[in-house]
Amino acid sequence: MSFPLYRARRLRRTPQLRALVRETSVRMNHLIYPIFVDETIDEIASIPEMPGQNRVPLGTVDEEIRHLVNTGVRAFLIFGIPNNKDEVASGAYSTQGVVQLALKRIRGSLGNEALLATDVCLCEYTDNGHCGIMQDGVISNDSTLEILAKIAVSHANAGADIVAPSAMMDGQVKTIREVLDQSGLTETAIMAYSAKHTSSFYAPFRGAAQSFPHFGGRESHQMDFHNPNEAMREIRMDIEEGADIVMIKPALGYLDIIHRASQMFDVPIAAYNVSGEYAMVKVAAERKILDERSTVHEILSAIRRAGAGVVITYHARDMAQWLNER
Ligand SMILES: [Zn+2]
Repeated sequence: MSFPLYRARRLRRTPQLRALVRETSVRMNHLIYPIFVDETIDEIASIPEMPGQNRVPLGTVDEEIRHLVNTGVRAFLIFGIPNNKDEVASGAYSTQGVVQLALKRIRGSLGNEALLATDVCLCEYTDNGHCGIMQDGVISNDSTLEILAKIAVSHANAGADIVAPSAMMDGQVKTIREVLDQSGLTETAIMAYSAKHTSSFYAPFRGAAQSFPHFGGRESHQMDFHNPNEAMREIRMDIEEGADIVMIKPALGYLDIIHRASQMFDVPIAAYNVSGEYAMVKVAAERKILDERSTVHEILSAIRRAGAGVVITYHARDMAQWLNER
């Protein structure tokens, strides 16, 4: 059907008509909000690299989550900043670790009102800032797997609904699934950072989480962003290993990967709209170069339209506010 029989503008005439035929939506139930729980501070501390984001003290994390839940944020991805770091990241799997204590505090106060996911990696807990156990200057894949499994079990025992391994070690999903099941934690879901690319867009996060590697980079385990076929292979392997949700990270420059994965696989796809993507919008909005609200809506809609069922985003906090105002 073509003009003059078909006039596309007919369905764009009023807000109601546009809403009626809208193909993509962004609602709070699609979003996960990352939160930094910091054991080293007593008062909430702003993150200069990520305007509008904070590090939250362990002692008041339940109050902060309560406040966010009341505004409409439903799901959280918890990162911890510990008092002590060491070579083997022992703070990451201690029952008295910052994430474990935060989970207990939040569950104690909010029960099941908040969906709690946790990041499972070593880099915030190793004194060298690396994602794994170092042997002769390189990350040892298989000895890191044991630690990742310990972290996942300790998070699940402390109340995590979802554990999200982000270390990009080969076999991490399989190892974690097996150890969770052996520990009777069959209901804990795994959201795998399946296609986590080496990216410049992570820089603000590393400032926030104090997880800069002290030497070397992350190219030996994170994916090369030139390789879409490899991304599909990583995702397929994680599904076969037992991932319940697979994630692509970052999101904005990776919409092609998200779309291709959503066409190829039938598990829920998550996309991580990372700190650098967030910071670009915030800084441009502060300088009045972009309108923040409409820009964020467009970005999150694009990620959803590409095929992500779940979007992990620092914008979730503002989105909740904006949706309430509407
Ligand atoms: Zn890491």
